[in-house]
Amino acid sequence: MRDSRGATAVDVLIVGAGFAGIGMGIRLARQGKDSFVIIEQAEDVGGTWRDNRYPGVSCDIPSHLYSFSFRPNPGWSRVFAEGREIHAYLRTCVQEEGLEEHLLLNCALSEAEWDDAGARWHVRTTRGDFSAASLVIATGRLSEPKIPPIKNLDGFGGRWWHSARWNAKVSLVGKRVGLVGTGASAIQILPRLAAEASEVVVFQRSAPYILPRGDRQYSREEMERFAADPGTVTALREELFAEAERGIGARQRRHPDIDLLRQRAQDHLSASIRAAALRRLLTPDYEIGCKRILFSDDYYASLQLGNVRLEPTPLTRIADGSGNVGDCGNRVAVAASGNSYELDVLVLATGFNSTRPSIAGHIRGRHSRLLSDEWSNGMAAHASTTVHGFPNMYVLDGPNAALGHNSAIYMIETQVSYVLSALDHLAGSGADALDVTAEAVHSYMRDIDKMAQDTVWVKGGCTSWYRDERTGRVTLLWPDSATSFRDRLAAFAPASYEHLRRPGSPLE
Ligand code: NAP
Repeated sequence: MRDSRGATAVDVLIVGAGFAGIGMGIRLARQGKDSFVIIEQAEDVGGTWRDNRYPGVSCDIPSHLYSFSFRPNPGWSRVFAEGREIHAYLRTCVQEEGLEEHLLLNCALSEAEWDDAGARWHVRTTRGDFSAASLVIATGRLSEPKIPPIKNLDGFGGRWWHSARWNAKVSLVGKRVGLVGTGASAIQILPRLAAEASEVVVFQRSAPYILPRGDRQYSREEMERFAADPGTVTALREELFAEAERGIGARQRRHPDIDLLRQRAQDHLSASIRAAALRRLLTPDYEIGCKRILFSDDYYASLQLGNVRLEPTPLTRIADGSGNVGDCGNRVAVAASGNSYELDVLVLATGFNSTRPSIAGHIRGRHSRLLSDEWSNGMAAHASTTVHGFPNMYVLDGPNAALGHNSAIYMIETQVSYVLSALDHLAGSGADALDVTAEAVHSYMRDIDKMAQDTVWVKGGCTSWYRDERTGRVTLLWPDSATSFRDRLAAFAPASYEHLRRPGSPLE
């Protein structure tokens, strides 16, 4: 249906077709709601599982937990599925839940603006204009590669790319490769890289805590049992959830939880690394859990291979001048220590711009206020989902909705249910729009600060993407258990919202 301006009118416009956008779409479709569209700027669905194609990409949350509760998959091949299996799962969700007819690929949001008079969002995209009663932002927090300030990076004579933009056209066989970073992506990349490259230098800015992962394939018997009896999949999911949830105690710096966890990581390090000098370099100088705890069975082993070297300081610059590799330009990468390495390829596993999502510069709420201005001191939302001055807009996977110890999918499902409650409330309220009050946002932020203040994320002595670099506030992470997040969002409280009506509407 087109409105008077020629825009396609829908009830709900969802931006992004990763886990969050697909989950939102499935729940709408299952409720029989037909008037929604999912726009996706890429040529395929899948979000981070479409973008991250680096060798070794997989999930460090068990797959039976890292999947929709309302779409269990008895066919997961391993405890921790590889990226392409998760991507295939999401594509199957889209096909089997009938989302294809709602999906617009290669369609990027150019600008969204709230129209008070019409009480609707006007959304300009690269594939036409839309008018939507509600806008759901599901663009994720790990979608924009972060390139650290490495001086003269553009002067590097070899090839370089970010881990989430893997260049599969360049063979790494026999190459000298610099791997920058030691986060969740880097530790998955190193073992595969080390098997191909002639030399690998790992540039470490800070040492991560690593626990054994215990990955394995599911046997045929197990998979047959999962397929024959859905109850076994549900029971396994509950068990995995409960086990992960117990990890919150250590993040809240409770004893002995945190001591036992730290000891497990130290034991894993001691058992895995033979040389005391290397062990020292790999010992973190902050409290466990402050940054994401990593899981790997092969990272430490790879670091000790003859062709792998750990540089215990960050990569800071590419040397000036033409280097000494003939006409290939300058290939000398220099670390903060002053050590320099001649390299053919640089892989930047340096994370994502999470605290300042660029889409916020393209969304204008009431009085044409930009979301990026509203968030100029850091992201903030009520119920981790709604932003004052941006009526009928819902942000999934945005402020204070990440977890450091359990499945992101559980959080997404919690938020999706909250959005559905808000839509139901609006439909029955006679109002045209809901705008969360400034007080509700402030009060929620005060609660977040209080929950966070004694946790390892604030007191652990590290920097992480969970906190805003401008204020130090925990803006990305929900600093408590996943269960408490669900409890908190379980009931939609209309009193937190101003109910708006169009000028001239019968109820105005
Ligand atoms: P990340 O955790 O932000 O790690 C970036 C790494 O780059 C850090 O080790 C950082 O050091 C380092 N770094 C930045 N600039 C550097 C420099 N100039 N020299 C050397 N090191 C430098 O990014 P990520 O590994 O891509 O992971 C991001 C998030 O994605 C994770 O926290 C997780 O939520 C998710 N993820 C999940 C999985 C999974 O299996 N579920 C896999 C991959 C990613 P500092 O630590 O000192 O900042």
